[in-house]
Amino acid sequence: MSQILPLSLSSHTSTAQPSTVAQDVSRPPIGRFAPSPTGQLHLGSLTTAVASYCHIKSLGGQWRLRIEDTDTARCDRQFSEQILLDLEALGLYWDGEVIFQSERTDLYNDYLTTLLAPLAYGCQCSRKSLQAYASHYHSDPSHYPRLCLGHKLDWQSHKVRLQLPNTLIGFMDGVQGAQWVNPQQSEGDVVVRRQDGIINYILAASIDDGLQNITHVMRGLDILPMTGAQISIMQAAGLPTINHWYHLPLMRNAKGQKLSKQNLARPIDVSRPSELLQLALILLKQPAVEPDSPVRMLEQAVSQWDLRVLMGQQALSAD
Ligand code: GLU
Repeated sequence: MSQILPLSLSSHTSTAQPSTVAQDVSRPPIGRFAPSPTGQLHLGSLTTAVASYCHIKSLGGQWRLRIEDTDTARCDRQFSEQILLDLEALGLYWDGEVIFQSERTDLYNDYLTTLLAPLAYGCQCSRKSLQAYASHYHSDPSHYPRLCLGHKLDWQSHKVRLQLPNTLIGFMDGVQGAQWVNPQQSEGDVVVRRQDGIINYILAASIDDGLQNITHVMRGLDILPMTGAQISIMQAAGLPTINHWYHLPLMRNAKGQKLSKQNLARPIDVSRPSELLQLALILLKQPAVEPDSPVRMLEQAVSQWDLRVLMGQQALSAD
């Protein structure tokens, strides 16, 4: 069971006040699965879905589904529909309505132009110019050196960054253990809206996790480095805190690569849902379940769900 460690957060803005991150045990457990429909589900995303479902259901909670499709150039409605069908075929029924982030751009912009505005600034630095800067000053190219901060560039024709605090944030990760992160040092000022108006993942996910009252976030370990930024953004936006974080080990193929759409991980085939669920549970090191209907198999998986076997693990082999 994880919790946010109480600690003080100072910030350089007037809106975000020094505060403590306290655990609110009175909130009902709500988890979510938040795939980006840039391709079909593969074994990596399926195990995240199964793990987040079983974990939140084992706590008697709700499991929400959110389609993270703000990047309209990379996402496809067909993939979204396929993901919904696949989840249903596997008995992974979500609670409540599905949220499509592509329909919520105005909402994210409202947050950006009101509560988050004191942290935001326009930026005209291109990737190329930042790389040139980093090689000249021997600095980390992934860390934005705040060249445009204070230049008051208009937001409409530039990308927008958010200032992240230069302070240590601690949280307990239910899989990876205690984490300490300085968002300014690790991520730097993140781009939250691109020049073309596309809202980036970190802003949309932070706002939605807050507005959906999510208490338990379970996702891949690749997103752990962004968690400090997410905590800072949620605090600055006055959104409720995530009580429990879990970053699951990544599924790797025989070559040791993370299973992802980029390296062409095979889409799952739900024509044999029972076998697929069994496989996902084996990969997650869970006790075997009897072959049955997907719903019954999931009931059994929930009743014997044991997260401890994944503690401290960073990678699992999918081959
Ligand atoms: N949309 C992200 C993905 O598909 C997951 C983000 C999250 O769970 O916070 O990798």
